[in-house]
Amino acid sequence: MSQFSGVVRTDWTRPEVRALFELPFNDLLFRAQQVHRQHFDANAVQVSTLLSIKTGACPEDCKYCSQSGHYDTGLDKEKLLAIEKVVEEARNAREKGASRFCMGAAWRSPREKDMPYVLEMVKRVKALGLETCMTLGMLDGGQAQQLAEAGLDYYNHNLDTSPEHYNQIITTRSYQDRLDTLAHVRDAGMKVCAGGIVGLGESREDRVGLLTQLATLPAHPDSVPINQLVKIAGTPLGEVDDLDPFEFVRTIAVARILMPRSMVRLSAGREQMPESLQALCFLAGANSIFYGEKLLTTANPEAEADRRLFQRLGIHPREEQAVFEPTLAAAPVNRPASLWRDAMATAG
Ligand code: SF4
Repeated sequence: MSQFSGVVRTDWTRPEVRALFELPFNDLLFRAQQVHRQHFDANAVQVSTLLSIKTGACPEDCKYCSQSGHYDTGLDKEKLLAIEKVVEEARNAREKGASRFCMGAAWRSPREKDMPYVLEMVKRVKALGLETCMTLGMLDGGQAQQLAEAGLDYYNHNLDTSPEHYNQIITTRSYQDRLDTLAHVRDAGMKVCAGGIVGLGESREDRVGLLTQLATLPAHPDSVPINQLVKIAGTPLGEVDDLDPFEFVRTIAVARILMPRSMVRLSAGREQMPESLQALCFLAGANSIFYGEKLLTTANPEAEADRRLFQRLGIHPREEQAVFEPTLAAAPVNRPASLWRDAMATAG
């Protein structure tokens, strides 16, 4: 079976993944685009909004993170946001055309006393007609079940990097802890959002390792955020060397080929990318972005700039119902986010 067939496989091997990374750039992008078009409208990009519901003072030591309490990054800490404030932000996001609202808290894991608040947030945001996603750190099986019962659609928990490189980046939780949380999320019936970060000073082999891990989980994550490190002064990775931008595009393309039906999200680091590079990422199969001016604590391209970029590229926002299953390819169900369209019509 061709490795480019677009068939969903969870038995990818490292040599296969390495071989994809080693393809000539144009060949890799062509293959990724072929796979992408088998499963998705190539001109539709899903738009999510992310809100930090609790900021800073995190006990974990992730060496890239502005929110870790281990480093002095000058970040203003905030307690858990009031539920009403979260609902208001979600309503604003919906009015701007977001179809999914993600809520992130800088915790090792939610404490028992936090759970009633986050469960209520899920219910209230969902009642607005938005898809809900949370990233709260590690979950046990019971917490995952509670979140699922409250109606949470997605849970984000990234693997960050390869198993070999992991200890260079985080020491306060293990790779296995992360895999266990993903298993609890899957077992509770929620959709999994899991990806990683590139530009951490890792080798290409680490990028091969990260994507192989993601693509050989029992089921592919529904969403795969590929983040580019945003260098934060005060963190141990604040001055790490830049990654070759084409290597970032390669990582997106390989993720698309390995996980043909997953949403591949162009995530943190977009603010630092020229629009031409973002366009290449869409060509490589990225079909999801975060929209809004802040991504947790780092800047994200301004909403107007995103609208203009979509307009220039002929891209339209995609809602969950717009997935092109192969059998529906001739008659895709594509329900545009009308508010985004209206806003785009007046942009630029
Ligand atoms: S990445 Fe998450 S877990 Fe790690 S320090 Fe930052 S907020 Fe904490």
